[in-house]
Amino acid sequence: PFCFAKNQIIDAQSAKVHPMDIGLIRGYGIFDFFRTSNYTPLFLSDYLDRFIRSASKTHLQLNYDKSALSDIIHQLIEKNDLKNGGIRMLLTGGVSENHFSPGAGDLFIFCEDLIFPSLEKYENGVKLLSAEHVRAIADIKTTNYAFPVWLSADWKAKGAEDVIYHQNGIISESSRSNIFVIKDGAINTPDEHILHGITRMRVLELAPETSIRQVSFEELLKADEAFITSTTKKILPITSIDNQKIGSGLVGPITKQLMTDFEAMEKQIVFK
Ligand code: PLP
Repeated sequence: PFCFAKNQIIDAQSAKVHPMDIGLIRGYGIFDFFRTSNYTPLFLSDYLDRFIRSASKTHLQLNYDKSALSDIIHQLIEKNDLKNGGIRMLLTGGVSENHFSPGAGDLFIFCEDLIFPSLEKYENGVKLLSAEHVRAIADIKTTNYAFPVWLSADWKAKGAEDVIYHQNGIISESSRSNIFVIKDGAINTPDEHILHGITRMRVLELAPETSIRQVSFEELLKADEAFITSTTKKILPITSIDNQKIGSGLVGPITKQLMTDFEAMEKQIVFK
């Protein structure tokens, strides 16, 4: 496959990063990740805006503007014949003399295989475990996922899909997805200490009546339905938290409706 590195499209095998890049030695860098659906880079404009915003908020210089990035991405989709795949944009912190201050970062754009959760998980829902944690600089898509990568050994061993973060009794998000909580027909989603997901944004468009507000861990446990959203999970139902059933323990009607609406929206964009 081809990727973009060193300011050109090259064979992905020859992409290299310097070992002293602070992306590597300090975990300082940004990225974004989106997918193609039938060769269409879905919601590309929103992902590019977020990537550009992440660069600016982390004081990293991005030498390509939105239209230049979009051109490169369209070239990669064509060259890699990427019908349904993932695309990752990565801007490293760069190499600097003191090994701490950001330097001139390297921009990489590369294509990946995409693996969605199994059909069984969409039909029956998945289990999350809770963890007391709040992400630092949460609204920037930084490359630092050390905590959840470390924690994943534990949640995998316990048969959970992922984790739900909470602090002082208030939930924020899952390790790589946002959360929605439904009670008595009302949809709620947290807004603080989260990465503002593009999938979350689409769900808010499909369900504009959603309350964007603080949601307590207690409320989540007592909810009728809950689901998480992300680029690679779309809308994935949650049916258990810390081995406690959410609602009936089955995927609820509002979640099901939103899953259907989301698929319809994607089809409409891709096959227009
Ligand atoms: N929250 C975090 C911490 C994430 O890493 C991600 C995605 O990777 C999300 C939320 C969901 O965002 P999106 O829907 O844009 O994939």
